[in-house]
Amino acid sequence: AIPTGLVIGLLLAALVAWLTQRQTSLPSMIRHALHDHEFHMVYQPVVDLASGQWVGMEALMRWTRPGGNSIAPDIFIAAAERSGQIRAVTQWMLRQVARETGPLLRAYPGQLHLAVNLASDDLSDAGFVEHWQALLDEYQLPATQLIGEITERVFMDAGQTGAQIHALRNLGVGIAIDDFGTGYSSLSYLAQMEMDYLKIDKIFVTPIGTGAVTANVVPHIVSLAQSLNLKMVAEGVETPEQADWLRQHGVQLAQGWLFARPMPIQAFERQWRAQQQA
Ligand code: C2E
Ligand code: CA
Ligand code: CA
Ligand code: CA
Repeated sequence: AIPTGLVIGLLLAALVAWLTQRQTSLPSMIRHALHDHEFHMVYQPVVDLASGQWVGMEALMRWTRPGGNSIAPDIFIAAAERSGQIRAVTQWMLRQVARETGPLLRAYPGQLHLAVNLASDDLSDAGFVEHWQALLDEYQLPATQLIGEITERVFMDAGQTGAQIHALRNLGVGIAIDDFGTGYSSLSYLAQMEMDYLKIDKIFVTPIGTGAVTANVVPHIVSLAQSLNLKMVAEGVETPEQADWLRQHGVQLAQGWLFARPMPIQAFERQWRAQQQA
Protein backbone atom coordinates (compact mmCIF):
# COMPACT_ATOMS: atom_id res chain seq x y z
CA ALA A 1 0.00 0.00 0.00
CA ILE A 2 1.07 3.60 -0.57
CA PRO A 3 2.16 5.27 2.69
CA THR A 4 -0.42 7.83 3.91
CA GLY A 5 2.39 10.31 4.58
CA LEU A 6 3.38 10.28 0.90
CA VAL A 7 -0.22 10.80 -0.24
CA ILE A 8 -0.68 13.74 2.11
CA GLY A 9 2.66 15.16 1.02
CA LEU A 10 1.75 14.95 -2.65
CA LEU A 11 -1.65 16.52 -2.01
CA LEU A 12 -0.04 19.37 -0.11
CA ALA A 13 2.50 19.92 -2.89
CA ALA A 14 -0.31 20.00 -5.44
CA LEU A 15 -2.25 22.48 -3.30
CA VAL A 16 0.76 24.77 -2.96
CA ALA A 17 1.43 24.58 -6.70
CA TRP A 18 -2.19 25.41 -7.45
CA LEU A 19 -2.23 28.35 -5.02
CA THR A 20 1.05 29.74 -6.40
CA GLN A 21 -0.17 29.41 -9.95
CA ARG A 22 -3.43 31.11 -9.02
CA GLN A 23 -1.62 34.02 -7.42
CA THR A 24 0.73 34.61 -10.33
CA SER A 25 -1.44 33.78 -13.32
CA LEU A 26 -1.68 36.63 -15.78
CA PRO A 27 -5.43 37.24 -15.26
CA SER A 28 -4.95 37.54 -11.52
CA MET A 29 -1.92 39.80 -12.04
CA ILE A 30 -3.95 42.01 -14.37
CA ARG A 31 -6.75 42.27 -11.83
CA HIS A 32 -4.28 43.43 -9.21
CA ALA A 33 -2.54 45.75 -11.63
CA LEU A 34 -5.83 47.57 -12.31
CA HIS A 35 -6.48 47.86 -8.61
CA ASP A 36 -2.94 48.86 -7.59
CA HIS A 37 -2.27 51.39 -10.40
CA GLU A 38 0.49 49.42 -12.05
CA PHE A 39 -0.54 50.55 -15.56
CA HIS A 40 0.32 53.88 -17.11
CA MET A 41 -0.03 55.53 -20.51
CA VAL A 42 2.52 56.85 -22.99
CA TYR A 43 1.81 58.82 -26.15
CA GLN A 44 3.51 58.52 -29.52
CA PRO A 45 3.37 61.57 -31.78
CA VAL A 46 1.74 61.29 -35.21
CA VAL A 47 3.61 63.46 -37.70
CA ASP A 48 2.42 65.20 -40.86
CA LEU A 49 4.95 64.00 -43.44
CA ALA A 50 4.68 67.15 -45.57
CA SER A 51 5.36 69.69 -42.81
CA GLY A 52 7.10 67.58 -40.17
CA GLN A 53 4.64 68.96 -37.60
CA TRP A 54 3.07 66.83 -34.89
CA VAL A 55 -0.67 66.59 -35.52
CA GLY A 56 -1.72 63.83 -33.20
CA MET A 57 -0.80 61.10 -30.78
CA GLU A 58 -1.54 57.44 -30.14
CA ALA A 59 -2.11 56.37 -26.55
CA LEU A 60 -0.18 53.19 -25.68
CA MET A 61 -0.42 51.29 -22.45
CA ARG A 62 2.51 50.29 -20.25
CA TRP A 63 2.71 47.89 -17.32
CA THR A 64 5.49 48.06 -14.79
CA ARG A 65 5.32 45.35 -12.13
CA PRO A 66 6.25 45.97 -8.50
CA GLY A 67 9.98 45.38 -8.56
CA GLY A 68 10.40 47.20 -11.84
CA ASN A 69 9.91 44.55 -14.53
CA SER A 70 7.75 45.46 -17.50
CA ILE A 71 5.33 43.27 -19.41
CA ALA A 72 4.82 44.15 -23.09
CA PRO A 73 1.33 45.29 -24.16
CA ASP A 74 1.23 42.68 -26.91
CA ILE A 75 1.40 40.07 -24.11
CA PHE A 76 -0.97 41.53 -21.52
CA ILE A 77 -3.55 42.88 -23.95
CA ALA A 78 -3.81 39.45 -25.58
CA ALA A 79 -4.08 37.87 -22.12
CA ALA A 80 -6.80 40.32 -21.09
CA GLU A 81 -8.69 39.56 -24.29
CA ARG A 82 -8.52 35.82 -23.60
CA SER A 83 -9.57 36.13 -19.96
CA GLY A 84 -12.47 38.49 -20.59
CA GLN A 85 -10.74 41.38 -18.77
CA ILE A 86 -10.16 43.63 -21.76
CA ARG A 87 -13.31 45.70 -21.16
CA ALA A 88 -12.09 46.59 -17.67
CA VAL A 89 -8.63 47.37 -19.06
CA THR A 90 -10.09 49.59 -21.79
CA GLN A 91 -12.34 51.42 -19.30
CA TRP A 92 -9.31 52.15 -17.15
CA MET A 93 -7.33 53.26 -20.21
CA LEU A 94 -10.04 55.58 -21.56
CA ARG A 95 -10.49 57.33 -18.24
CA GLN A 96 -6.75 57.71 -17.73
CA VAL A 97 -6.29 59.05 -21.27
CA ALA A 98 -9.22 61.46 -20.90
CA ARG A 99 -7.79 62.78 -17.66
CA GLU A 100 -4.26 63.17 -19.01
CA THR A 101 -4.94 64.57 -22.48
CA GLY A 102 -8.19 66.50 -21.95
CA PRO A 103 -6.63 69.87 -21.19
CA LEU A 104 -4.24 69.73 -24.16
CA LEU A 105 -6.93 68.56 -26.60
CA ARG A 106 -9.28 71.32 -25.50
CA ALA A 107 -6.54 73.90 -25.93
CA TYR A 108 -5.93 72.89 -29.55
CA PRO A 109 -9.30 72.12 -31.14
CA GLY A 110 -8.97 70.84 -34.68
CA GLN A 111 -5.18 70.76 -34.49
CA LEU A 112 -4.42 67.77 -32.31
CA HIS A 113 -5.84 64.25 -32.52
CA LEU A 114 -5.79 61.45 -30.02
CA ALA A 115 -6.00 57.81 -31.07
CA VAL A 116 -6.81 54.95 -28.69
CA ASN A 117 -6.68 51.21 -29.34
CA LEU A 118 -9.92 49.27 -29.00
CA ALA A 119 -10.45 45.54 -28.78
CA SER A 120 -13.11 43.26 -30.14
CA ASP A 121 -14.92 42.85 -26.80
CA ASP A 122 -15.12 46.63 -26.35
CA LEU A 123 -17.22 46.94 -29.47
CA SER A 124 -19.43 43.96 -28.77
CA ASP A 125 -20.43 45.64 -25.50
CA ALA A 126 -23.77 47.31 -26.16
CA GLY A 127 -23.05 49.95 -23.48
CA PHE A 128 -19.71 50.98 -24.93
CA VAL A 129 -20.79 54.05 -26.87
CA GLU A 130 -22.88 55.31 -23.96
CA HIS A 131 -19.89 54.92 -21.68
CA TRP A 132 -17.71 56.74 -24.19
CA GLN A 133 -20.25 59.58 -24.42
CA ALA A 134 -20.37 59.88 -20.61
CA LEU A 135 -16.60 60.09 -20.49
CA LEU A 136 -16.54 62.78 -23.19
CA ASP A 137 -19.04 64.81 -21.18
CA GLU A 138 -17.25 64.33 -17.88
CA TYR A 139 -13.86 65.40 -19.26
CA GLN A 140 -15.20 67.90 -21.79
CA LEU A 141 -13.48 66.08 -24.64
CA PRO A 142 -14.30 67.01 -28.23
CA ALA A 143 -15.31 63.78 -29.99
CA THR A 144 -14.04 65.08 -33.32
CA GLN A 145 -10.46 65.04 -31.99
CA LEU A 146 -10.67 61.36 -31.09
CA ILE A 147 -9.87 58.29 -33.17
CA GLY A 148 -10.64 54.67 -32.29
CA GLU A 149 -8.11 52.20 -33.71
CA ILE A 150 -9.57 48.82 -34.51
CA THR A 151 -7.81 45.84 -36.06
CA GLU A 152 -9.22 44.29 -39.20
CA ARG A 153 -10.12 41.15 -37.29
CA VAL A 154 -12.48 43.22 -35.12
CA PHE A 155 -14.05 44.84 -38.16
CA MET A 156 -15.06 41.46 -39.40
CA ASP A 157 -16.65 40.30 -36.16
CA ALA A 158 -20.34 39.79 -36.47
CA GLY A 159 -23.00 41.21 -34.15
CA GLN A 160 -22.89 44.59 -32.45
CA THR A 161 -19.57 45.77 -33.87
CA GLY A 162 -20.87 47.50 -36.98
CA ALA A 163 -23.60 49.29 -35.04
CA GLN A 164 -21.13 50.46 -32.38
CA ILE A 165 -18.73 51.78 -34.99
CA HIS A 166 -21.60 53.59 -36.66
CA ALA A 167 -22.65 55.13 -33.33
CA LEU A 168 -19.09 56.22 -32.54
CA ARG A 169 -18.80 57.91 -35.93
CA ASN A 170 -22.13 59.64 -35.31
CA LEU A 171 -20.57 61.17 -32.21
CA GLY A 172 -17.81 62.50 -34.45
CA VAL A 173 -15.16 59.97 -33.45
CA GLY A 174 -12.87 58.87 -36.31
CA ILE A 175 -12.20 55.19 -36.95
CA ALA A 176 -8.84 53.78 -38.02
CA ILE A 177 -8.21 50.28 -39.27
CA ASP A 178 -5.05 49.17 -37.47
CA ASP A 179 -2.30 46.73 -38.47
CA PHE A 180 -3.68 46.76 -41.97
CA GLY A 181 -2.58 43.85 -44.14
CA THR A 182 -1.58 41.56 -41.28
CA GLY A 183 -5.01 40.00 -40.84
CA TYR A 184 -7.31 38.50 -43.38
CA SER A 185 -9.87 41.08 -44.40
CA SER A 186 -11.33 40.69 -47.84
CA LEU A 187 -11.54 43.67 -50.13
CA SER A 188 -15.31 43.45 -50.42
CA TYR A 189 -15.54 43.66 -46.64
CA LEU A 190 -13.29 46.69 -46.47
CA ALA A 191 -15.35 48.64 -48.94
CA GLN A 192 -18.42 48.25 -46.74
CA MET A 193 -16.76 49.31 -43.50
CA GLU A 194 -17.20 52.72 -42.01
CA MET A 195 -13.73 54.10 -41.42
CA ASP A 196 -11.58 57.16 -41.84
CA TYR A 197 -7.94 56.10 -41.51
CA LEU A 198 -5.86 53.15 -42.58
CA LYS A 199 -2.72 52.38 -40.62
CA ILE A 200 0.00 50.79 -42.73
CA ASP A 201 1.67 48.19 -40.54
CA LYS A 202 5.37 48.30 -39.74
CA ILE A 203 5.96 44.99 -41.56
CA PHE A 204 5.28 46.83 -44.84
CA VAL A 205 7.19 49.98 -43.89
CA THR A 206 10.41 48.30 -42.70
CA PRO A 207 11.35 46.76 -46.09
CA ILE A 208 10.96 50.07 -48.00
CA GLY A 209 14.21 50.80 -49.80
CA THR A 210 15.75 47.40 -49.01
CA GLY A 211 14.82 45.68 -52.25
CA ALA A 212 12.84 43.04 -50.35
CA VAL A 213 9.75 41.82 -52.20
CA THR A 214 7.46 42.81 -49.31
CA ALA A 215 8.30 46.43 -50.15
CA ASN A 216 6.30 45.96 -53.35
CA VAL A 217 3.11 45.62 -51.32
CA VAL A 218 3.01 49.21 -50.04
CA PRO A 219 2.06 50.88 -53.34
CA HIS A 220 -0.95 48.57 -53.52
CA ILE A 221 -2.03 49.43 -49.97
CA VAL A 222 -1.66 53.11 -50.82
CA SER A 223 -3.82 52.90 -53.93
CA LEU A 224 -6.38 50.83 -52.08
CA ALA A 225 -6.58 53.43 -49.31
CA GLN A 226 -6.86 56.19 -51.88
CA SER A 227 -9.67 54.46 -53.71
CA LEU A 228 -11.54 54.06 -50.40
CA ASN A 229 -10.90 57.72 -49.51
CA LEU A 230 -8.98 56.84 -46.38
CA LYS A 231 -6.21 58.90 -44.82
CA MET A 232 -3.08 56.84 -44.31
CA VAL A 233 -0.84 56.61 -41.28
CA ALA A 234 2.42 54.71 -41.74
CA GLU A 235 3.66 52.92 -38.63
CA GLY A 236 7.17 52.06 -37.53
CA VAL A 237 8.98 54.65 -39.66
CA GLU A 238 12.62 54.45 -38.59
CA THR A 239 14.65 55.89 -41.49
CA PRO A 240 14.55 59.12 -43.54
CA GLU A 241 14.44 56.96 -46.70
CA GLN A 242 11.18 55.36 -45.56
CA ALA A 243 9.70 58.76 -44.71
CA ASP A 244 10.70 60.24 -48.10
CA TRP A 245 9.32 57.29 -50.00
CA LEU A 246 6.03 57.38 -48.10
CA ARG A 247 5.62 61.13 -48.61
CA GLN A 248 6.35 60.82 -52.33
CA HIS A 249 3.75 58.09 -52.62
CA GLY A 250 0.98 60.16 -51.06
CA VAL A 251 1.02 58.92 -47.46
CA GLN A 252 0.13 61.91 -45.28
CA LEU A 253 0.84 60.81 -41.72
CA ALA A 254 3.45 58.71 -39.93
CA GLN A 255 4.56 57.41 -36.57
CA GLY A 256 7.95 55.97 -35.75
CA TRP A 257 11.20 56.19 -33.90
CA LEU A 258 12.58 58.45 -36.65
CA PHE A 259 10.28 61.16 -35.29
CA ALA A 260 9.60 60.24 -31.69
CA ARG A 261 9.15 57.32 -29.33
CA PRO A 262 6.10 57.00 -27.09
CA MET A 263 6.48 59.33 -24.09
CA PRO A 264 4.64 60.41 -20.95
CA ILE A 265 2.02 63.14 -21.44
CA GLN A 266 4.17 65.78 -19.73
CA ALA A 267 6.99 65.29 -22.25
CA PHE A 268 4.52 65.31 -25.14
CA GLU A 269 2.95 68.51 -23.89
CA ARG A 270 6.30 70.27 -23.45
CA GLN A 271 7.45 69.43 -26.97
CA TRP A 272 4.04 70.18 -28.46
CA ARG A 273 3.98 73.67 -26.95
CA ALA A 274 7.56 74.32 -28.08
CA GLN A 275 6.54 73.34 -31.61
CA GLN A 276 3.53 75.69 -31.50
CA GLN A 277 5.76 78.61 -30.59
CA ALA A 278 8.41 77.84 -33.21
P1 C2E B 1 -0.07 48.99 -32.28
O1 C2E B 1 -1.41 49.57 -31.98
O2 C2E B 1 0.18 48.53 -33.66
O3 C2E B 1 0.98 50.08 -31.82
C1 C2E B 1 2.18 50.35 -32.52
C2 C2E B 1 3.37 49.70 -31.83
O4 C2E B 1 4.56 49.99 -32.56
C3 C2E B 1 3.61 50.22 -30.41
O5 C2E B 1 4.12 49.11 -29.67
C4 C2E B 1 4.71 51.27 -30.64
O6 C2E B 1 5.45 51.53 -29.46
C5 C2E B 1 5.52 50.57 -31.69
N1 C2E B 1 6.33 51.48 -32.50
C6 C2E B 1 6.03 52.74 -32.88
N2 C2E B 1 6.99 53.23 -33.70
C7 C2E B 1 7.93 52.27 -33.83
C8 C2E B 1 9.17 52.18 -34.56
O7 C2E B 1 9.59 53.09 -35.26
N3 C2E B 1 9.86 51.01 -34.44
C9 C2E B 1 9.42 49.97 -33.70
N4 C2E B 1 10.16 48.87 -33.63
N5 C2E B 1 8.24 50.02 -33.00
C10 C2E B 1 7.51 51.16 -33.07
P2 C2E B 1 3.66 48.87 -28.16
O8 C2E B 1 3.51 50.17 -27.46
O9 C2E B 1 4.58 47.84 -27.61
O10 C2E B 1 2.21 48.24 -28.33
C11 C2E B 1 2.04 46.98 -28.94
C12 C2E B 1 0.59 46.70 -29.22
O11 C2E B 1 -0.14 46.53 -28.02
C13 C2E B 1 -0.12 47.80 -29.96
O12 C2E B 1 0.20 47.71 -31.34
C14 C2E B 1 -1.56 47.49 -29.65
O13 C2E B 1 -2.04 46.46 -30.49
C15 C2E B 1 -1.47 46.97 -28.23
N6 C2E B 1 -1.80 48.06 -27.29
C16 C2E B 1 -1.01 48.99 -26.71
N7 C2E B 1 -1.72 49.80 -25.88
C17 C2E B 1 -3.00 49.37 -25.95
C18 C2E B 1 -4.24 49.80 -25.33
O14 C2E B 1 -4.31 50.76 -24.56
N8 C2E B 1 -5.37 49.07 -25.64
C19 C2E B 1 -5.34 48.00 -26.53
N9 C2E B 1 -6.48 47.35 -26.78
N10 C2E B 1 -4.20 47.60 -27.13
C20 C2E B 1 -3.05 48.27 -26.85
CA1 CA C 1 -2.72 51.09 -32.79
CA1 CA D 1 -0.68 49.11 -35.58
CA1 CA E 1 0.57 46.04 -33.78
